[in-house]
Amino acid sequence: MTTALITGITGQDGAYLAQFLLQKGYQVAGLLPQRSSTSLWRLDELKITDNIRFVHGDMTDVSSLIKVIKENQPDEIYNLAAQSFVGASWKQPILTSNVTGLGVLHVLEAARLSNSQCKIYQASSSEMFGLVQQPIQSEYTPFYPRSPYGVAKLFGHWMTVNYRESYGMFACSGILFNHESPLRSLHFVTRKVTDAVARIVCGVQGSVRLGNLEARRDWGFAGDYVEAMWLMLQQEQPEDFVIATGRTVDVRYLCETAFRYVGLDYKDYVESDPALFRPAEVDVLIGDASKAKSKLGWEAKTSFEEMIRMMVETDLQRVSKQLASAKGTDLS
Ligand code: NDP
Ligand code: GDP
Repeated sequence: MTTALITGITGQDGAYLAQFLLQKGYQVAGLLPQRSSTSLWRLDELKITDNIRFVHGDMTDVSSLIKVIKENQPDEIYNLAAQSFVGASWKQPILTSNVTGLGVLHVLEAARLSNSQCKIYQASSSEMFGLVQQPIQSEYTPFYPRSPYGVAKLFGHWMTVNYRESYGMFACSGILFNHESPLRSLHFVTRKVTDAVARIVCGVQGSVRLGNLEARRDWGFAGDYVEAMWLMLQQEQPEDFVIATGRTVDVRYLCETAFRYVGLDYKDYVESDPALFRPAEVDVLIGDASKAKSKLGWEAKTSFEEMIRMMVETDLQRVSKQLASAKGTDLS
């Protein structure tokens, strides 16, 4: 049986990837940092928590990673763990660099020192393109990160390339553009909006304050993107791939789409607050995933509108359930 080790198993992508690999018959080990409280809510929602072997370790502690690799002998490592929120990376630049940047080197070095022959997937990011140097970004576009997160990801990206070239390791970098889902954290603008729509409809929130409504992103569905991670590790040769939809829309259109779904006009509920603008913005991202299409046979399946509908519907169910259970508590 093939064994995969997923770092960041409790995150959005970790949950969808674990589900995908379990369906393929993999044994899945998930790295859990030892904290006073750990939330498994995404794995619980997908009903896969009991099928995962949890192993303790932290991206900032290379010795824990060596132990985990030696004890579990994974065939494939999917390195998804990160401090992944761009906004927080200005407030915690050193933590972000340690986890999101140096953490990648820890995983690569742990695999090398353990003499592991495993294949490694590194979760690189379109944030590395930052102040875009070409109108559409591909594997050949020069990088220009705009946040401590983007800089840390670029370090991890080049370390992955360097370990592949220096030691002949099977290490691939997936340069994934933004991907969202009902399992997205509330920090990110898509989920912040769909959650607000649900709360406004249920009468527990009046409006929502956002930052820059003109920023444009190439937003795909996370459930589609985890398949691309797996496909990269099934190739004969390790290579890097851009994964994107090839369409870009702005935050304003996101709001319009999400509110329209419940019959509301976003202009009545959304405020743009300059205090929520970022110190340096990534104005626009749009990816060219033609290499992934030709070599992996991968392309995005879910449209932006379908994904936002799925997120609004799920948030409506969640908020209604929370309200119903709060009411039940009051009555008892
Ligand atoms: P999430 O933020 O949802 O998940 C991050 C995961 O990393 C969580 O499981 C978190 O655990 C874990 N983690 C954080 N710090 C540590 C640590 N010190 N040691 C071990 N684990 C840790 O991210 P996504 O699932 O959205 O993204 C997965 C990866 O893909 C990330 O590396 C992200 O940067 C990258 N990426 C994501 C994109 C996207 O649009 N989603 C786009 C491009 C790249 P806990 O929850 O306990 O903190
Ligand atoms: P990112 O691309 O990884 O930074 O994903 P985010 O979802 O955090 O942000 C996407 C874009 O939305 C960025 O350009 C943000 O500046 C913009 N944005 C506007 N308002 C908000 C907000 O309230 N929260 C977040 N997270 N982003 C916002």
